[in-house]
Amino acid sequence: PASPATLLVIFGASGDLAQRMLLPSLYGLQQAGLLPDGLRILGTARSELDDAAFRANVADAVRAQVPAADLDDGSLDTLLARIGYQPADSSDGASMERLGARIRELRDGDILYHLSTAPRFYGPICDALGALDLAGPGTRVMLEKPIGHDLASAIAINDGVACVFDEDRVFRVDHYLGKEGVQNLIALRFGNAMFEPLWNSRHIQHVQITVAETVGVEGRGDYYDTSGAMRDMVQNHLLQLLCLTAMEPPSRFEPTAVRNEKIKALRSLRRIGRAEALHETVSGQYTSGAVGGRVVPGYVEELGRTSRTETFVALRAHIDNWRWSGVPFYLRTGKRLPSRATEIHLQFRAVPHSIFDPGARIAPNALTIRLQPEERIELRLMSKTPGLDRTGLQLSQVALDLDMHEEFAAASRRPAYERLYLDALEGNGTLFVRRDETEAAWEWVDAVIDGWRANDIAPKPYPAGTWGPASAVAITERHGHTWRE
Ligand code: NAP
Repeated sequence: PASPATLLVIFGASGDLAQRMLLPSLYGLQQAGLLPDGLRILGTARSELDDAAFRANVADAVRAQVPAADLDDGSLDTLLARIGYQPADSSDGASMERLGARIRELRDGDILYHLSTAPRFYGPICDALGALDLAGPGTRVMLEKPIGHDLASAIAINDGVACVFDEDRVFRVDHYLGKEGVQNLIALRFGNAMFEPLWNSRHIQHVQITVAETVGVEGRGDYYDTSGAMRDMVQNHLLQLLCLTAMEPPSRFEPTAVRNEKIKALRSLRRIGRAEALHETVSGQYTSGAVGGRVVPGYVEELGRTSRTETFVALRAHIDNWRWSGVPFYLRTGKRLPSRATEIHLQFRAVPHSIFDPGARIAPNALTIRLQPEERIELRLMSKTPGLDRTGLQLSQVALDLDMHEEFAAASRRPAYERLYLDALEGNGTLFVRRDETEAAWEWVDAVIDGWRANDIAPKPYPAGTWGPASAVAITERHGHTWRE
């Protein structure tokens, strides 16, 4: 087992992600007393800052995220005392050498490098660390997404990193895995005996995984336009949720066992080829409309030019193994949808025979695990409608509804990056994505995108504030299923 890191080096420390998520999460860990004793933190980017200027910048970043009433000045001061900054340009050997000298000065045990720059710098940064002899045993590296924009570029990035860091020292972030609700999915599946016997094609009719956003591209248009919903959301977050829902029970909650089961689920995903892309997938792009009562512009207006990039994807996937044979997994994600929601919905099969009056409608059971915006677990059941009726027993659908925020009112919900930093600092890769997972996911996603290209499928327009193009409905309805809204 790895020892806790005593030095965290953040590349891209002046960037948007660092300011909004990483530095405030380090403050959260500091306040919770969870940073390893003696941990030093070194920020680096090209910006010419000194330690004091960067510390002021960290304090601003923390204050921007933590309400003044909750801010603990003592914890912030303790965090700032751990922090330094060293300017370096990954393409400039001399500045990287100066960074290396600073790292050597601060090194007192294991090092965690966190690369939060554009992914094209991952290879060169790893090379430089290798050349400086700062990437051997006792060092590990955490990589932000996206690992490439297709399989070939992902392999190139992974190869670049692998020249220097062995795979068990590489921690690829999918921040969804750091979310409380996602870990609760694992707890729910494997901490209860009652679900497992039902968790298969004999009892589950279909599964829906939705990640719906109300936001548009919000100033990230130039990046987003090179990516789109398939690459930006399905390749990572949706497929990770699919893996955790579909995988076999791992023997232990530890990195190899969990990731071995996830990769088996990914490799069992039936390839969506050119013919299937026509009927089993829908891509869309939002036009102007209204979200939450607010009029919003369309994607091309936000971007300032025409584009064939999809901001919505719906598709019907199949997992070809014993557990899931014949059970469609409907995946759906999009921007500017009517509400923000991340959920996994398992629709059970109908009762085999109804003993009730033919007029009594028996809705099949359903289990919905909602991860965002609130965590809730809802089980839909049939019950008797109270009262008397000449026609006999009346049935209604009712919900057993568990609100996790109410249930754990005293517990604070921790942001995903706190969990991820804590684990990466400790050297625990369970909630990080292994190389084979990234590449299997790209291979599957590439086939869908190739299908769109080969069939010249352009995204269909949908007004902002609706659940995507009308044809997204047909993907489920054609098979007698209905999207949950
Ligand atoms: P960003 O705002 O563009 O920041 C990039 C960082 O890299 C800056 O600190 C920049 O600082 C530094 N940098 C640029 N060129 C460099 C070079 N040649 N050598 C050394 N440092 C260099 O990007 P970001 O939004 O923070 O994203 C960082 C990573 O996280 C990316 O991989 C991104 O895909 C991923 N990510 C971001 C988000 C998000 O919400 N922002 C979400 C998911 C994933 P200087 O200009 O000072 O060098």
